[in-house]
Amino acid sequence: MSLLEARELNVWFDLEGGGTLHAVQGVSFALEEGERLGLVGESGCGKTTTALALLGLLPSSAEVAGEVRFHGEDVLAGGEESVRPHRWTDVAMVFQGAMNSFNPVRTVESQIVEALELHAVAEGAVARARAGKLLESVGIPADRARRFPHEFSGGMRQRAAIAMALACEPSVLVADEPTTALDVMVQAQILELLDGLCRDFGLALVLVTHDLPVVAQLCDRAAVMYAGEIVEEGPVERLYHSPRHPYTRLLFAATPDLADDGAPVASIPGAPPRLDRPLVGCPFRPRCDRAFGRCAEERPLLRRVDGSRAACHLNDVPA
Ligand code: SF4
Repeated sequence: MSLLEARELNVWFDLEGGGTLHAVQGVSFALEEGERLGLVGESGCGKTTTALALLGLLPSSAEVAGEVRFHGEDVLAGGEESVRPHRWTDVAMVFQGAMNSFNPVRTVESQIVEALELHAVAEGAVARARAGKLLESVGIPADRARRFPHEFSGGMRQRAAIAMALACEPSVLVADEPTTALDVMVQAQILELLDGLCRDFGLALVLVTHDLPVVAQLCDRAAVMYAGEIVEEGPVERLYHSPRHPYTRLLFAATPDLADDGAPVASIPGAPPRLDRPLVGCPFRPRCDRAFGRCAEERPLLRRVDGSRAACHLNDVPA
């Protein structure tokens, strides 16, 4: 039994003017104890929506189908009542932009203490001492705890957001673009911090990012998302050295840090498809440099190929 599992997760929004936006379609993956999975892809491909769905944090306008299982229990089955006991205590989230995690008119300490008290982890002086320890564990001196979020630098705020997410000792941390908007030096420090925390506390990690080098640095496996679906999933090494979906190959080729010395950095022409319109055939076809006849008519399914899973008709064609 996996630690955390998404099974055929679908998220859609009914649009005001009519029609439906299919943000996440049939997403399935499993995460084992201490494992690190990167959810990668361009903006608007469904990564953040998937991450929010794992914790039941989508807005009420979202329709959700499928299962999210924690230790085998379907935590979405009973709506908010069934997901609440697991949120923060079993699965916690670091949101995009650390300022979004904090109330700007309250001290950082009071907000961590509130999380501890709300989940009956500790209260009063014990909770305050624990808040200080949590901040120290992410490299913030405890005597800064009584400062307001705006008195922290961007990197410190992100560290404090991570400390707050760890308050109830979850076994899974979902981090949504945790290094976006930080300068490169601070980015490296935050990644190092996440790496150390995962190792020290045996945390499993779901890392949402558009940044492949970050995934390569931090994750064991990656799930590449396109147009709301997982189009390839497997060990990071395998995806890098032998991708089985053209989008994965082009994403790596479009990443300067990972390109071979002297090799030109490619860009992927075009843009992802609109998700409020029916898609016929392969969603990646208009941008794919390997498309052939069948791609226009038949939607490729995610199938096992060697040690990964990929949704591309090329994998059915004998080499
Ligand atoms: Fe390209 Fe066809 Fe594979 Fe889609 S199914 S990624 S269009 S080759």
